Amino acid sequence: MTDATIAPTAGRPAATDPALEAYLEATREERHASYLELLRIPSISTLPEHAPDCRRAAAWIVAELTRIGFEHAEAAPTAGHPIVYADWLHAPGAPTVVVYCHYDVQPVDPIELWETAPFEPFIRDGRVVGRGAADDKGQVHMHLRAFEALFATRGRLPLNVKIVFEGEEESSSASLADWLRANRERLASDAIVISDTGFFEGNRPALCVGLRGLVYTQIDVTGPGQDMHSGGFGGLIENPANALARIIAELKDRQGVVQVPGFYDDVVRLTSAERRDLAAMAYDEEAVREHCAVPVLVGEAGYAPLERLGYRPTLDVNGIWGGFQGEGSKTIIPAQAHAKVSCRLVPNQDPDIIFERFEAYVREIAPPGVAVTVRKLGSGRPLAVSADDPIAATALEALEATFGAPPCLTRNGGSIPVAEMFTTLLGRAPVMLGFTNPDDHAHSPNEFMRLDNYETGIRTICLFWDLLPERMR
Ligand SMILES: [Zn+2]
Repeated sequence: MTDATIAPTAGRPAATDPALEAYLEATREERHASYLELLRIPSISTLPEHAPDCRRAAAWIVAELTRIGFEHAEAAPTAGHPIVYADWLHAPGAPTVVVYCHYDVQPVDPIELWETAPFEPFIRDGRVVGRGAADDKGQVHMHLRAFEALFATRGRLPLNVKIVFEGEEESSSASLADWLRANRERLASDAIVISDTGFFEGNRPALCVGLRGLVYTQIDVTGPGQDMHSGGFGGLIENPANALARIIAELKDRQGVVQVPGFYDDVVRLTSAERRDLAAMAYDEEAVREHCAVPVLVGEAGYAPLERLGYRPTLDVNGIWGGFQGEGSKTIIPAQAHAKVSCRLVPNQDPDIIFERFEAYVREIAPPGVAVTVRKLGSGRPLAVSADDPIAATALEALEATFGAPPCLTRNGGSIPVAEMFTTLLGRAPVMLGFTNPDDHAHSPNEFMRLDNYETGIRTICLFWDLLPERMR
């Protein structure tokens, strides 16, 4: 650590802070080696056999945080994998920020589609390739290294920081809500920054200002007490698989409009200006069609693709099963049939209300002769951050200054339950500042992060922390 009496650089863009830039330049190779080291730990949170690896990844990060200059670094035990916490609170008068990322990763199957071993990462052609390179260990590492550069060149940070790096994000964040609740006081803050999102198409810098919510259900249809002979009973009793198919067919019409009464009642409509902005954002429908290998894109009639993706709710069957699944034929009327059905929700839809309406509708359209139950398996609220929010505005400013292009505002079609947990439990909506390239293959084989996004993103983060105290005053 260097002399702590160095003149403060608050308010001066880190991108032009020569000491910081020189430090980042001089440590580039070592930084990349460290990034790969983190990626080598197979911290797959959902597979029990990788629990020791999750603990190893947490310990690795704790050691790094301590080395860099953080205090109180710990791998806090939970019922599942540890949550890494650390803080540095020696900037009196400056804001306090909570920084969230996750160090766990998705499983690697289908392994045969990986061109290289997922946990033997490497850098080639400006890409860091390996499981977690983008989602989300790459962003964990970016934050670590941005803080390291600030500490190393100035001996201090421009604001107060509390680190929360989770190890169960890819397996539904089972322990996070309880931990946040128990640590509410300790996490008191003026801003929450989540780095688990990415750039817009064409790798254009973006700030995610909205997330869709989710309600996840299971429909169980029960008919006869056991599978029955379709010759002996076909024509006499209702077939649960047929009944389920009828129910599913009535959930949406042929224009893609969800038929659940009241489903769209609380959806916030876009203003015409917002629709214009959205229409002006380039979106390569053909590339998406090709990427998905589908003959044509479809969706709710009357809405453009980007609007359908971020601003309109959806309803999808995620799985469906029942009856005979084996080779050949078996002539039965199955005793049961089941489906997993989920809805992506947008502001201001309430997952509990949507579930109630969904359940009532499914019961109403269920044919006689079978028993139908609808269960809620999970839910999350949609989230929207105002772009005028000073923290979001500062993030946009830092992105533009470092990447040299005006960032666009995006809504993520997915859900980040964590964002909702922070909003509900800490009473503050997070700003989602993420840097991954849109073609990163997150959750898929051959995941990668563009090295430019990683390197420039570290500069963005430094500048963001430098600007924030001034902008939040
Ligand atoms: Zn993630």
